[in-house]
Amino acid sequence: MSELVLPGLADVHTHLRVPGGEHKEDFQTGTAAALAGGITTILAMPNTSPPLATPEIIHATYEQAQAGTRCELGLFAGASPEHIEHLPALAPYAVALKIYLNDTFGSLRVEDVPTLMACFRTWPREKMIAMHAEKQSVAVGIGLATAFDRPVHFCHISRREEIELIATAKAHGLPITCEVTPHHLYLTQEDAARLGALGDMRPVLGTKSDVAALWEHINDTIDCVATDHAPHTLAEKASEKVPPGVPGLETSLALLLTAVHHNRLTLDRLIELMASNPRRIYGLAEPPDTKVVVEMAPYTLSNEGLQTKCGWTPFAGMEVVGRVKEVVLRGKVVMENGRILAAPGSGTVLV
Ligand SMILES: [Zn+2]
Repeated sequence: MSELVLPGLADVHTHLRVPGGEHKEDFQTGTAAALAGGITTILAMPNTSPPLATPEIIHATYEQAQAGTRCELGLFAGASPEHIEHLPALAPYAVALKIYLNDTFGSLRVEDVPTLMACFRTWPREKMIAMHAEKQSVAVGIGLATAFDRPVHFCHISRREEIELIATAKAHGLPITCEVTPHHLYLTQEDAARLGALGDMRPVLGTKSDVAALWEHINDTIDCVATDHAPHTLAEKASEKVPPGVPGLETSLALLLTAVHHNRLTLDRLIELMASNPRRIYGLAEPPDTKVVVEMAPYTLSNEGLQTKCGWTPFAGMEVVGRVKEVVLRGKVVMENGRILAAPGSGTVLV
């Protein structure tokens, strides 16, 4: 069975649920899931409860992250219309700012131009701005990037119309980048019908044409693959008011390696999408003496033995190739054959 050695991967879109959702994930379990998936650097989203939108909350969360993380972890600050004057005070604790232009899980949402202008005027220029923007909101983001002449990163692009608009804007040299998720590359509306609540996330799963468009742009327009790891318990998913989101940290590398195995993607491109490009976009250094050893063996993804507290994956039953055998971070073996060896707090919080 052949073995591959990859750099430590970086996943720039995860939800670790601290504060307020610790019954479904926390820094210890979320970073264990990352290491199990060959990911040594993750960025955590601010739509927590309460959100990371005031100096007190983000500072307290930063300290909890330091106590809990087993890998490299950075926080996003959240743009909230009620707290917009705090943005510069959030920056010392965050890698980047997240702006939600469309409905999602949690209360963060920016809908008015004055608040958007305040974000672009007051957030430090050396730190990134990432956006949840769907459909025509992508055009709003491109307009802001152009007007303020500063980079904008689009999260989880999922539709043909969005990726084609981004390709057009990039062809004009505009300072924008984008990510796609493994679930938008691998699942369609048909899977959403089969999976029910377990296939409900934002953006929703696309048509076959949307999925085809993402693969058409995988070698040029798309800058990175990020999981949007968004754990909810099975009880919550079975409830009346289904929260959107699916876990992804432990399955993304296997899914993308399976694309390499089937010649849909080169290994060099996988490394760009999952390691070098995400770090370049967010200005994160590659950790020294770090590697991920993968056995290119076939197996079936399942809900058994997952590190994420939610304990399930929408990809259960899928045949994949590529199992993470060992992860070394800064010279230390942090995961070996499914056992997490890194202690809580042994990781680093990035800013
Ligand atoms: Zn998300």
